[in-house]
Amino acid sequence: MTDALPPGSVIGILGGGQLGRMLALAAARLGLRCHIFDPDPQAPAAQIAQHSVAVYDDIAALVAFAEAVDVVTYEFENIPTAALDAIESLVLVRPGRNALAVSQDRLTEKTWLADLGLTVAPFADVDGLGGLQQAVAQLGTPAILKTRRFGYDGKGQVRIGPGDPLASVWDAMAGAPSILEGFVDFKREISVIGARGLDGAVACFDPGENLHRDGILHSTTVPAAIPGALATDAILLTGRILNALDYVGVLGVELFVTDAGLVVNEIAPRVHNSGHWTQDACAIDQFEQHIRAVAGWPLGDASRHSNAVMTNLIGDDVADWEALSAKGGLHLYGKAEARPGRKMGHVTRVNPKG
Ligand code: AMP
Repeated sequence: MTDALPPGSVIGILGGGQLGRMLALAAARLGLRCHIFDPDPQAPAAQIAQHSVAVYDDIAALVAFAEAVDVVTYEFENIPTAALDAIESLVLVRPGRNALAVSQDRLTEKTWLADLGLTVAPFADVDGLGGLQQAVAQLGTPAILKTRRFGYDGKGQVRIGPGDPLASVWDAMAGAPSILEGFVDFKREISVIGARGLDGAVACFDPGENLHRDGILHSTTVPAAIPGALATDAILLTGRILNALDYVGVLGVELFVTDAGLVVNEIAPRVHNSGHWTQDACAIDQFEQHIRAVAGWPLGDASRHSNAVMTNLIGDDVADWEALSAKGGLHLYGKAEARPGRKMGHVTRVNPKG
């Protein structure tokens, strides 16, 4: 007997954006089917998977979805607790709830990472102007105020410099419970995409070096320009996080590289934009690895055969699709409208490993 779901099984995915779409493509290669749950009738993954069109608090739709699939996974971390309550008794959910509980709230996340013995930016809980004044007095400036929940791509964040008027900074948060983080003087930003299987096996991809523009990931370069020992540290700490969460699936760990070593910025309990390079530079990419893990299959080899630079196509960047397609490594998400700041696709250029 094995716990692996056989080919023909159906993977349910909460969320049908580009990550869900690329998960469904990888699943199809393995003979597995996907069924997404997403309120948007135009969700990118809907073009290639079965689709339940419903909002995340439509309990009847969630129950029907859970009953139609063999396992449920997700492509974003802000899944309402009530949605999980509705499906958890009906179907396996991988990664499990613990990973969502830790990563949905920046305060819980930072506290959990620090308790694990990992280095994080100095932080303080902020729930009002008084709390903000106290936190700034404690941590100093520059600092970054972030909403505890629902922040992504730099949204819900305000940088605070010396002497900035704290009342207007707090107003900008619109009353959202927040966390103040001391500014980390980092040399580089890197990330590790790691996977853990049902049997506890761990496989991590090489760390990539990330460049952000306007709070959005612009590019990931592999290998990151860091010493080998630091790359090993990054991979080992990712393994510790995966084990501590008793995790099943792929997880992204974003790290700052400082003179004093690695500082964990955040974790994402899902496939990650900074892991897209694996599609073109590894035999088994992050999407297949995630599908393998949640389906209970053995993890694949995460080694890299090429160096890679992945660049996101944001908004109008995608207008160049024809010229970009000439060289290969082009991945488009099937989105009709190229709005500013919207991730429309990515392109990965690879070179043989030196
Ligand atoms: P986040 O949403 O937490 O990933 O933050 C988005 C980006 O803001 C990061 O990739 C960093 O470039 C920057 N950033 C976030 N937190 C800090 C921090 N504590 N110190 C310095 N830069 C930060």
